Amino acid sequence: MGFFRFVLFLFLAYVAFLFVRIYLGLKRAGQRPRQAPRQVRGEMVKDEVCNTYIPREEALTEVRDGVERYFCSEECRRKSKQN
Ligand SMILES: [Zn+2]
Repeated sequence: MGFFRFVLFLFLAYVAFLFVRIYLGLKRAGQRPRQAPRQVRGEMVKDEVCNTYIPREEALTEVRDGVERYFCSEECRRKSKQN
């Protein structure tokens, strides 16, 4: 009988452990994930005209329709206006 009680105790302990884990998991899921800062150093942006990626700080930018666009050169910026 002693062994059976021991197994039962282990089982209950395991179930309790699972409940705690689920509870902690739910608590963590309820927290809002930390948002990454929008401007990351060394971030690469896409030039939609010639499909190249350029460092954000080197890109030419233009806001059109509320969307910021990036260009590798003045030439690409000019081309995008023609479309
Ligand atoms: Zn370009």
